[in-house]
Amino acid sequence: MEFEKVNQFDGLEMSYICDFSGGYVSRNKKLFSQIELTDLNRFILEASVFGTPIFKLGDGNNKLLILSGIHGNELPPQIAHLKLLNELIGSDISNMIYFIPFAAPKSTMLSERTFNSMDLNRSTHINNSLSNLILNAILDLDIKFVGDFHSTAINSNPGFESIFSSKSPCPESFLIANYISREMGSDVISFDFAGSSYKGAVEDVCNLNGVPAVTCEVLSPFSNVAQGSVDKSLAQMRSFLDYFGK
Ligand SMILES: [Zn+2]
Repeated sequence: MEFEKVNQFDGLEMSYICDFSGGYVSRNKKLFSQIELTDLNRFILEASVFGTPIFKLGDGNNKLLILSGIHGNELPPQIAHLKLLNELIGSDISNMIYFIPFAAPKSTMLSERTFNSMDLNRSTHINNSLSNLILNAILDLDIKFVGDFHSTAINSNPGFESIFSSKSPCPESFLIANYISREMGSDVISFDFAGSSYKGAVEDVCNLNGVPAVTCEVLSPFSNVAQGSVDKSLAQMRSFLDYFGK
């Protein structure tokens, strides 16, 4: 996987996971109305028309991935992700951080949970699904830790602010979840073995492939942005990075 320097933005590099998932994210009015139109955000929105872009900052030891938009109708983490990128660009970063703010720009544009009728958080184990391509990139780039950021509505699963993790085969998943939980007050949801309750979650398939991963959830109605939910999601992202000393 080849990354190219983005000359406009100091230290930023980018590549694409694939070219069949693009969409006009700006057509999602609820999301777009909450995005500050910085040069960087404009650039990311334009890049997302052509597929799923992946960005990179820093050249330190720990290779980390921040992921959002696996469910296109979960808006707070995708908005928070742009805020995080704007915060981090030009700052000192001690790790190598990869960012996928819009896993499926087309789904975000349509504010749909699924991508082409497929739930990307139930299909990471299926060859050539979009989330499987993200997994392949994680393994290809030798990314060591993954934070996948979602939102959840009351009366859905899990329906409360939480961090999903598992104790096996990657115990560090559980440790990361506990760290974020302690800082944030989000509840820890932990399984003894990754993928034991349902198949194909990005987090679980990462853990099963030896890459410790957690799924972080904030509370917000689907296709909408609850007050404070963007800040909560952003704080979860910062906490995930803090675990590794940023
Ligand atoms: Zn989700």
